Amino acid sequence: MSRDLAQLHPLLRWIIPEIIERCRAAGLPVLVTDGFRTQGEQDALYARGRTAPGGIVTQVRWPNSAHCWGIAFDYCRNVKGREYDDSDNFFGRVAAIAKGYGLDWGGDWTRFVDKPHLQLREFMPGNSTTWLLRTYGTPEAFRATWGASQKTGGEVETVERYRTVLDAPDYARGTLLRLMEAGILLGDGNVDQYHRVIDLSEDQVRILVMLERAGVFEEK
Ligand SMILES: [Zn+2]
Repeated sequence: MSRDLAQLHPLLRWIIPEIIERCRAAGLPVLVTDGFRTQGEQDALYARGRTAPGGIVTQVRWPNSAHCWGIAFDYCRNVKGREYDDSDNFFGRVAAIAKGYGLDWGGDWTRFVDKPHLQLREFMPGNSTTWLLRTYGTPEAFRATWGASQKTGGEVETVERYRTVLDAPDYARGTLLRLMEAGILLGDGNVDQYHRVIDLSEDQVRILVMLERAGVFEEK
């Protein structure tokens, strides 16, 4: 089990600090308790409550947890003695913010409710690793594709344009994802936010970030 953000998919590395900051501003102190898991770590967790002492903490063996693919993290309240106190719906309130960044929440699951868990929706359709296994085979092969994002441009293009949210600068990604989630930034209509073609210029992106800071997109 690793709290090291560096082990996680680049999207989570960008998104998590922003979620923590937004939660902090909303009076929700978040601590990341777990992220990437190796095969040995997932096997040991699976044994808990089965062949090892303790209660059951996971329903899946390696590599069927999103943690094994570096696309999930667990969290708790960053307050000593109240880490898992949910009397004020702490976990749901954090999840409501996190969902705006393309994350699915374990608290929404019916078979095994997992409130401290969030994972990247786009890689786990139907909360299943089927797509990942079919597309990449192994977590190692999946990891080898990280960091592959291409910019549009070429010889004719003089102004920098961002084809997808992955091409946009770090500071703007949160804004763009939230505008997509709110149905404001539709692009080519691709339901997969990370591959939706938005084709925005650097100036347009900066203006969107400024407008969001000014509260223009806040719900009335
Ligand atoms: Zn988890």
